[in-house]
Amino acid sequence: ASLARIAATDSKVGAFLTLNEENARNEAAALDAQLAQGGERGLLFGIPAGIKDNIVTEGLRTTCGSKFLDNYDPIYDATVVTKLRAAQSITVGKLNMDEFAMGGSNENSAYHPVRNPWALDRVPGGSSGGSAAAVAAGQAYFTLGSDTGGSIRQPAAYCGVVGLKPTYGLVSRFGLVAFASSLDQIGPITKNVEDSAYVLQAIAGHDGRDSTSAKVDIPDYLSALTGDVKGLKIGVPKEYMGKGIDPQVKERVLEALKVFESMGAQWEEISLPHTDYAVASYYLLASSEASSNLSRFDGVRYGVRADNPANLLDLYRRSRSEGFGPEVKRRIMLGTYALSSGYYDAYYKKAQQVRTLIKRDFDQAFEKYDLIIGPTAPTAAFKIGEQVGDPLTMYLNDICTIPVSLAGVPAISIPCGTADGLPVGLQIIGKHFDETTVLRAAHAFE
Ligand code: GLN
Repeated sequence: ASLARIAATDSKVGAFLTLNEENARNEAAALDAQLAQGGERGLLFGIPAGIKDNIVTEGLRTTCGSKFLDNYDPIYDATVVTKLRAAQSITVGKLNMDEFAMGGSNENSAYHPVRNPWALDRVPGGSSGGSAAAVAAGQAYFTLGSDTGGSIRQPAAYCGVVGLKPTYGLVSRFGLVAFASSLDQIGPITKNVEDSAYVLQAIAGHDGRDSTSAKVDIPDYLSALTGDVKGLKIGVPKEYMGKGIDPQVKERVLEALKVFESMGAQWEEISLPHTDYAVASYYLLASSEASSNLSRFDGVRYGVRADNPANLLDLYRRSRSEGFGPEVKRRIMLGTYALSSGYYDAYYKKAQQVRTLIKRDFDQAFEKYDLIIGPTAPTAAFKIGEQVGDPLTMYLNDICTIPVSLAGVPAISIPCGTADGLPVGLQIIGKHFDETTVLRAAHAFE
């Protein structure tokens, strides 16, 4: 059904970069055979899934949405892929994305843009635009995305599906091609909250191959979905509800808060005073880490190599000039500048200090509140081409998701109605490693 749906719709949506058709059919047949012999069903038995194309899959092309990795067939599976296999899910293909996960509209894919299944002239969001659109279009029953500054939550909001960014460290990054290592997290995109809990259950947990993987006990996420939110205290940051937020989006969030109230939760307005500095701090830190992480793409070790290089420097220079797209180059240049000697203290170090202040805002709020709720993004999905020439406007779309990433706390985006017929996302943010409360509230609302 999944493969048929992809065949029928993906020429319009453009969510997939590579299909895994033959293997998927074989795996499905093998699972059937196992079951016939009395084998047990895994947690995700036979469920067709799509994987964002920055998560490596053994023998299955992994491009990161970049021409640089057009010919890259990884020789190992990411830990999340191994875990999905153990849960008996079936990978149907690899999903389109902004190149190296840099972007918020999927227009930075070096292959083709993804279209929002709700309105084909609109962006699906990004960078996990393929992952969100595939679920919205019914092509896969869940997908994995990655979120560095909003890339799971914002496309989930634009496509009317559920996207969860787990606490930093809960899900292994081993095999996730690094963009900004101190921020990157893998998480599920699903049709509903229960599915999100299932997939999180399958992929969470400590991994010795990721040095930032947390050693925490993994709770039973499914049994947390009790429907009960009585007595929960919710803070609503005024900075997420003010200037720049579309009035219809704000209205939908206020309506959602009324629903929580009717279920016995309480909410009040709070302040996260350093929110204004989050976007600037994020773009410095993420670009700095990216400039360092992407130095491995030199035309020697991975992917595409420039033809007939005159010497080693020419090989590096031309492979990188030809292989990377404009947004990736912009970030590498920004990041290299911010890290260069003489500027490091003024930019990178300052941005790290601001990050600490932002994290403190959250710590203080969570002393008093169980959850923080606001919009996922200031607007619904915009038109393809509308912001592509204006990186600063594009960066500002992340204002409600970036602070959460800098603080490392978990957050989910769930659908909460529409604005001019387009889906609006509600963002529910929790304490470190308190995915259970986030999922419980999201599920009760849904
Ligand atoms: N839009 C943000 C950026 O371009 C977030 C990307 C992400 O989370 N991967 O950096």
